[in-house]
Amino acid sequence: MAFTNQRTLTKAASLEGTSLHTGEQVVVTLKPAPVDYGIKFRRVDLPDEPTIDARIEFVKQVERATTLGEGNVKVHTVEHVLSALHGMGVDNAVVELNGNEPPICDGSAAPFVELIRRCGLEEQNALRKVFEIREPLHVETKSGSLMTLVPSSGFRVSCTQVGPDGRFTQYFSTEITPEIYEKEIAPARTFVFYEDVQPLMDKGLIRGGSLENAVVIRGDSIMSKEPLRFQDEFVRHKILDILGDLILAGCRIAGHVIAVKPGHAPNTELTRGLSKRYAQMLAMVPPRVIPQGSAVMDTKDVLAVLPHRYPFLMVDRILSFEGRPFPGPSGHAGRSPSRSDGASCQHIDVEVESWCERHRIFYER
Ligand SMILES: [Zn+2]
Repeated sequence: MAFTNQRTLTKAASLEGTSLHTGEQVVVTLKPAPVDYGIKFRRVDLPDEPTIDARIEFVKQVERATTLGEGNVKVHTVEHVLSALHGMGVDNAVVELNGNEPPICDGSAAPFVELIRRCGLEEQNALRKVFEIREPLHVETKSGSLMTLVPSSGFRVSCTQVGPDGRFTQYFSTEITPEIYEKEIAPARTFVFYEDVQPLMDKGLIRGGSLENAVVIRGDSIMSKEPLRFQDEFVRHKILDILGDLILAGCRIAGHVIAVKPGHAPNTELTRGLSKRYAQMLAMVPPRVIPQGSAVMDTKDVLAVLPHRYPFLMVDRILSFEGRPFPGPSGHAGRSPSRSDGASCQHIDVEVESWCERHRIFYER
């Protein structure tokens, strides 16, 4: 797995459009943010401009779209802009809105990818938080959705979209890199089955919906302003939504997501499990001061420093050892000021030897 640094935007850029569910005109502005900030939504139309973390603990509704909320402050339909930030490799950003929902645009994430391109991308001086999946994680719902996360060297999504009566059942599997995301996933538009439209309208949803921002499936035919962008556009849009919901875990993953009949409810349930597993993994790393320079450590010392799990359990001998503190914004070494638990945080670079291999291991503690 490649170790890459966190990324943010170089400068701010805005986009205006209609929101899907309320039908109001809204401006979204993407802005740069510091290391370990994550992604936050800011409602600039409300007093004191409150922010909401794009984190799973703030998910309030998952019907048709993902809604974040904290107190009285809500942001609806967050998944397409979050998907674009995830897919394009943006770790830290502010998403400013002068309304309660980002614009739906053409129903895809392509306009947000273009917005990110206008902002530009900048590498930051800290390692990206990537959770390497070691053990499978499963989520199954009563409605027949099945989400599985299994180990994989990169980040991959395989997905099956199952339509009513098996109509437009599609399958797509792809590795996710910014290049693949931009070309193969971001342009895929939202779709809706005709029979589902009226109940949504009765609930006061999709007031801004039109054939310009969604593909409507009626029977075996397609109704939309422009022809399908991909023959399997619907399953690609499902992958787009999965990426938007998964980033709410607060980390990226090296793993393979296998999704059968995904939706915002099963997606966010998987994200909840992932977030819990990630927190458990971080808690396993023992608190200990890391020695610097070439190591003189006995077995007890080694066990105190390295996590008690594979691949560290295979280590016979430490050849060299270096703890690299997180550089803070003012160059203040040793502490990560934005870490919520206030604990110090280091990148550890260990050269180790086991009976069969010699490795260089980097990890964060
Ligand atoms: Zn969507």
